[in-house]
Amino acid sequence: MNDENTKKLYDTFPELFQEDYKRRNPWGFACDDGWFNIIYELSEKLQEYRSRTGIDIYVIDVKEKFGELICYLDHYPEEYILSLIRQARQQSLSTCEICGKKGTKSIHCSLIKTLCQRCAKELGFIETDQYSPLLLFFSIVEYQDGQTEITSIR
Ligand SMILES: [Zn+2]
Repeated sequence: MNDENTKKLYDTFPELFQEDYKRRNPWGFACDDGWFNIIYELSEKLQEYRSRTGIDIYVIDVKEKFGELICYLDHYPEEYILSLIRQARQQSLSTCEICGKKGTKSIHCSLIKTLCQRCAKELGFIETDQYSPLLLFFSIVEYQDGQTEITSIR
């Protein structure tokens, strides 16, 4: 994530992203700017919960993993908090991580990212509508006629 967006999140939500977060994550947020709005909205809801209940929750890690937005907190006082994080992850599954437009999970070699068609093409990713952890160990070769072949990379 670029410096401007990172700073915006740090400055707006200092209680959620404390010094400890910055120390653990010197790179800030390990995902691209297309997910900025999702993280911002999630932070607003977490901050609202903090203010309303007085319960001290803060963020430990925010990153992209297997094309999904992962957010870890120091603890989860209620199912409600987990549901907020799940919602954000669900949103990330249909949002291009690069540009924020509508996206789907795409694969390139063993990398999986959620991308729009344009960004996927630019980065050499192929759309995959069926996600399986197995894909992490295999690469999909797609032919002109739409046929695909899976090759092992291990
Ligand atoms: Zn895009």
